[in-house]
Amino acid sequence: MTTAVANHVELSKTPLAEFRNEPVRDFSRAAVREDFRNAIAKLRERFPLDAPLVIDGKPVRTKEVIAVRSPNDTSLVVGESGSAGIEDTDRTIAAAKNAFASWSQTDAGDRAAFLLKAAEVCRQRRDELSALMVHEAAKPWREADADTCEAIDFLEYYAREALRLGERRPLQRHVLGERNELYYQALGVVGVIGPWNFPMAIPVGMMAAAVAAGNTVVWKPAEQTPLIAHLVMKIMEDCGLPRGVVNYLPGRGEVCGQRLLESTDVQMIAFTGSREVGLHILKECNTVRPGQRFVKRVVAEMGGKNALIVDSSADLDSVIPDVLYSAYGFSGQKCSACSRLIVVEDVYDELLPRLREGVASLKIAPSTDPGCQVNAVIDEDAKAKVLEYIAIGREEGTELYVAEVGELAEKGHFVPPAVFTDVAPDARLAQEEVFGPVLAVIKARDFDHALEIANGTDYALTGGVHSRTLEHLEAAKTRLQCGNLYLNRTITGAIVGRQPFGGFRMSGIGSKAGGPDYLKQFLVARSATENLMRHGFAPLDEGDGPRDEHFD
Ligand code: NAP
Ligand code: MG
Repeated sequence: MTTAVANHVELSKTPLAEFRNEPVRDFSRAAVREDFRNAIAKLRERFPLDAPLVIDGKPVRTKEVIAVRSPNDTSLVVGESGSAGIEDTDRTIAAAKNAFASWSQTDAGDRAAFLLKAAEVCRQRRDELSALMVHEAAKPWREADADTCEAIDFLEYYAREALRLGERRPLQRHVLGERNELYYQALGVVGVIGPWNFPMAIPVGMMAAAVAAGNTVVWKPAEQTPLIAHLVMKIMEDCGLPRGVVNYLPGRGEVCGQRLLESTDVQMIAFTGSREVGLHILKECNTVRPGQRFVKRVVAEMGGKNALIVDSSADLDSVIPDVLYSAYGFSGQKCSACSRLIVVEDVYDELLPRLREGVASLKIAPSTDPGCQVNAVIDEDAKAKVLEYIAIGREEGTELYVAEVGELAEKGHFVPPAVFTDVAPDARLAQEEVFGPVLAVIKARDFDHALEIANGTDYALTGGVHSRTLEHLEAAKTRLQCGNLYLNRTITGAIVGRQPFGGFRMSGIGSKAGGPDYLKQFLVARSATENLMRHGFAPLDEGDGPRDEHFD
């Protein structure tokens, strides 16, 4: 299929350059800062933004709406999105199902072309996209910019993966007179259910993979961040994506999200979010409902309780900034955030005062401020949860430092960055995901003991070691149970293609996002075997290719 698609980008015929990561903005340059400051201010003039549902290419209004207030300042209404009910959801699924017939037959090169075009438009509008995340999710400048870059990377990466997997592959022939081929086909309708913490990159990654593979999508963004999803949806439409291929379905998880799980027309759920919801999704999708003719596939990326180990040979000067960024960057609201610092007793007492000074130096501010290091958390519930864990920390450990938030707390969802020491490995603070700027410090006897503590939770997402002992670094590669291991650096900030991302145990099931196995999850593999020893072929049409194998 080349028609309307090929008019946009004649890509299937042009060889693609090698995948490269999108470079982040250099905010140390005054001109770059100025541009971004302007983007934040300019976007604000357009508030409140409007984000109706998009079903089959048409905006659809709903009775119920979601008002999005900035976590920086809850008096600021950033915009309003629709909130889908059951009927809207069913219509959306029907639109995606309808679009599947033609999209799944569209040439992989043409599908890739859309994603590359969308990546290009995101590049042109990246400050606007990042500025929206500054307002809507209270992302600090660098974090918002990195989110946009990662989304661009996913579009570029999965476009190339679709091309790679779009080819029919001849398989090694061990038997004369037999031809074997492996090829992939799309699954059907994919429900993309995203979190608010990487409100652009993560759902764009799931959506781009689904679309690149030839599936159609119902995209349900998190309630806290529907506006950035709507802006991306508009960009996809502006790129000429045929209607119905991606549909935008904001609304409440228990309503429209749940309907996607129950629908017998949705073949797959791509989910990133909490363990609680992820396990619920797996259970629901395991239930076969009347009329269902397939086993529903689920990719579920879930939470973490990530540990960073510091051994006695570590360079403490580099440990502190890496811990501060890993634990408190975006206020600890990253699935990869460091929430347990495991320190061997030889250096424990030396490290603590430096850590205290470091945490005390962090600037708590609205994310619109370029100096912000600790931003407001996403909503009232998150704030209450963090404050509850600070109270738990006071009971379970020793308070090393809990900051003062001051007047900021009156305006937005600000919570103090906090650090507790002498936390027992099995304490709640050392076992449960807090998703806020709270760090538990745990003392270990030696490196082996530190590994044992690190592995002693239900999760296995990210982990790290700071050490100058080569055997320890090597041992961590096999013995530290985590999907993404980082040695002598921060433990957050995975980059597409360089650090394919995802965990195991209760941190999720599925192949790593931004890696070579990811796209296959959105495809069915097929193989065909042809006996070439037959006699009496029908006459060949020109262009049918050689048929001489039967002479082998
Ligand atoms: P969440 O509460 O689990 O929500 C995620 C999504 O699931 C939201 O869109 C939510 O909708 C939806 N949902 C809720 N109930 C549902 C239901 N019954 N059926 C279908 N969908 C439903 O997670 P979150 O608070 O947005 O994100 C934070 C969590 O994500 C943390 O645990 C973090 O570790 C994890 N995370 C993991 C990764 C990873 O790669 N492993 C990356 C980022 C985040 P509503 O918004 O309407 O409730
Ligand atoms: Mg939620």
